[in-house]
Amino acid sequence: MAKSKISLDVDLDASGKVAGYAKLPYSVNRSAYGSLPIPIVSIRGRPGPTVLLMAGTHGDEFEGQVTLTRLAQELDANDLVGHLIIVPMANYPAARAGQRVSPIDQGNLNRLYPGDPDGTPSEMIAHFIETELMTRADFIFDLHSGGASLNYLPATTSVMSTGAVSEEERRAHMMAFGAPYGLMLSSAPGAGSSSEAAARRGIPRLGTELGGRAWIHPAYSELCEDGVRRVLGRLGVIEAGELPPPAAVEFLSVDRECYVYATAAGIFDGAVTLGSEVKQGECAGKIHFPETPLRKPESVYFSADGIVVCERALAMCEIGDCLYHLGKPL
Ligand SMILES: [Zn+2]
Repeated sequence: MAKSKISLDVDLDASGKVAGYAKLPYSVNRSAYGSLPIPIVSIRGRPGPTVLLMAGTHGDEFEGQVTLTRLAQELDANDLVGHLIIVPMANYPAARAGQRVSPIDQGNLNRLYPGDPDGTPSEMIAHFIETELMTRADFIFDLHSGGASLNYLPATTSVMSTGAVSEEERRAHMMAFGAPYGLMLSSAPGAGSSSEAAARRGIPRLGTELGGRAWIHPAYSELCEDGVRRVLGRLGVIEAGELPPPAAVEFLSVDRECYVYATAAGIFDGAVTLGSEVKQGECAGKIHFPETPLRKPESVYFSADGIVVCERALAMCEIGDCLYHLGKPL
């Protein structure tokens, strides 16, 4: 495949802390010869592992964007054994707009790997991240949350059966991060996710789902920063001695039957909240139809036993919208 057309105005091989942009050529009426500036910070200390830290894969997920901005300012190259590549707004047009997908091409960056150097801006970004940044990395963070439409219990995520990295090692990273829940996700091949890209390259990757609602829960922001620092400590990149110890992790598996989807367009009135333990067949809530007031509400049901780890943050729903998803105790 051809080389990326995205050019860096920062030297990733330079020592110390440097900041700039990965520039994606993008000419519009306002800006001939213009580009989309994807912010990037490189902090290189003494020789050690390279860690790629990404947030803003989905532009309406703010916890990771803020955490990486804070870390970019707080971390000092002199204290580092290794190299951090920090990309707080990975799908820059989406993050700039505060939207899940890019307003330019409707691209969902976490479905587009390995990308295309000659494709849409989102495809070009996926290709750039996989071929120019992941190829340097020994470890990858991809920080997510529920965004505008969902809300999550604080959790780390790992996709099951991802290549060379053992489950034991993936769990150890999740325990070091210390979010109270660890979601082991199943994923169909060809999902185009950053997990799949990392697995293709044989690189351990840790994801998060911390809150959502297009909002930042103060406790989750703090957890995100401490969690990233604890994992960097485990990798030997920074001293993590003074941080609070990680919380115990409850590991949960997430498969297809964990999801509850809307069966009608209407207003969803949920029956349970985050953290509830539910049984297969239990009512998850009712969809109401105030436009046809005498139409009876439609109930939706859980199709597995589990803990509610994710809830819809919006009452209005269309057929197929995710209303809840569960995690099953492992
Ligand atoms: Zn996301």
